[in-house]
Amino acid sequence: MSSSHLEQNHIDQDEFIQKAGKIGTFEWDLVKGISTWSKGFEALYGFPNGGFKGKNSVEWSKLLHPEDKKKVADATAYGLKHENELNIEFRVIWPDKSVHHLMTRAKIVRNAKKKAIRVIGVNIDITERKQVESNLSYLAQVSKVLSSSLDYNKTLKAVADLGVPEIADWCAVDMLTADNQIHRLAVAHIDPKKVKWAIELNKKDPPDINDETNGLTKVLTKGETQFYPVITDEMLVASARDEEHLKLARKLQLSSVMMLPIIIQDKPVGAISFIYSESGRKYTQADLTVAQEVAARAALAIHNARLFTESQKAVSVRDEFISVASHELKTPVTSLKMYTQVILEQMKRKGEDQMIIPLKKMETQINKLTLLIDDLLNISKLQLGKLEFHEEFFDLQEVVVDTIESVQASSIQHKITIKGTLTKKVWGDKYRIAQVITNLLTNAIKYSPEAHKVVVHVGETKHNAEITVQDYGIGITKEQQKKIFTRFYRVSGPEARTFPGLGIGLYISSEIVRRHHGKIDVKSIKGKGSKFCFTMPFTKQTHE
Ligand code: ADP
Repeated sequence: MSSSHLEQNHIDQDEFIQKAGKIGTFEWDLVKGISTWSKGFEALYGFPNGGFKGKNSVEWSKLLHPEDKKKVADATAYGLKHENELNIEFRVIWPDKSVHHLMTRAKIVRNAKKKAIRVIGVNIDITERKQVESNLSYLAQVSKVLSSSLDYNKTLKAVADLGVPEIADWCAVDMLTADNQIHRLAVAHIDPKKVKWAIELNKKDPPDINDETNGLTKVLTKGETQFYPVITDEMLVASARDEEHLKLARKLQLSSVMMLPIIIQDKPVGAISFIYSESGRKYTQADLTVAQEVAARAALAIHNARLFTESQKAVSVRDEFISVASHELKTPVTSLKMYTQVILEQMKRKGEDQMIIPLKKMETQINKLTLLIDDLLNISKLQLGKLEFHEEFFDLQEVVVDTIESVQASSIQHKITIKGTLTKKVWGDKYRIAQVITNLLTNAIKYSPEAHKVVVHVGETKHNAEITVQDYGIGITKEQQKKIFTRFYRVSGPEARTFPGLGIGLYISSEIVRRHHGKIDVKSIKGKGSKFCFTMPFTKQTHE
């Protein structure tokens, strides 16, 4: 390619560059060590036409970002040796210190001896594309961070840190406190010294929520986004409170600012600010869209975290209520039970048979009430880790027989039978284990209204005793089987509504069995019946 040809080419390119402003051609004569370039090429490096005086690669390489110098030198050296083309991406620093991304696409011309003698190519400004890539990767990281924890103080700090230096030179998060003050939650800059300085400055001269000229105040009080793509010195002068403030603003070298409200249920709760300063970069409409998305995701994360905290509080209020109510109910029900027994005894002695049947029914109902209250008491103790266990070696078979007897006493329809025997004693709290068996038996009766029998199997493996309670009732679907041991879970649906209960018996039973180092599970076929099985170790266990 002749030099005049190249000139002509430059002129055509320049017309194109005028329009696009993003491409410049160059020719590098390796024999003479001289480079020539088009006007547009200089613009890519932040120089006016004819402003860049360098004629050789040494001058040119001074414009490269320090972190990319080696990469460019290595890729060029390799290309000149082994390739016919150069394809390199790198950053350059303009005279105004701003950073831009460029890409080189060049042909390598070789002489007859295959030695590279000339490189002819284009430089293309890819800053915008790089920015879009950074924006998208930032957004992806923000989503990940925000969903990683419910501690939004922590996650918002991480969001600010992730913003620099790709998305901003400065990134800050400010929150409105309950007493309507501005609390700077996070501030990030690539230079830790500057972060420290900004924190001190914020403490010394905190932004005033009543200062309506302040952009941050507008964001926090009115929920208005503040977008200043270009900050001029006139703008700084106009917005400065006083001389000192102006000096400070100038020192910050603000060049472009976006401040977005974090809005929850139509109310601003905080703001996230992205600032370009020393890099001299300018925010575009596309950057604003990304920042708005970040603010929206932050809002959602904060909202979720607050809802979670509120629901936690509601749960602890409920637990507290259950604990107090069950305590208060226990005393009158205990004396009711005692007086009923006294009257029943008297009636028996006097032979007043017509009173005995209703009194017995009354006693059965009081027993049910007592069990319910006990369950409630136990559950609140379990929550607080205060459920006591008095362990010893005991005869489990005996406990099973006694428990069956007492449950059988209040059930006429079902006949409870026992199969199998145990040869060894088990280690545990016999009253708690009786509670588990009672629970399984009463459930077996309750959930098999059409059946007439419940079978209890007693068996053993090498290390464990195994108790199985089998009924022929309504059964439990596979899906529900996974949930029935959780607190307050009750099978829903019209059928379930006919059975009274609180959904805590199996939860308590499973906790008791777990504390005994045993296992509890269920096998069931809907409509056919259920088989609940739990194990108890024969040897003494130490607690966790
Ligand atoms: P509840 O007080 O509701 O009986 P549980 O914790 O004892 O509470 O049981 C939880 C749920 O498991 C019950 O609501 C019921 O739907 C189901 N369930 C428990 N035992 C049986 C059983 N033997 N047959 C069918 N469903 C059962």
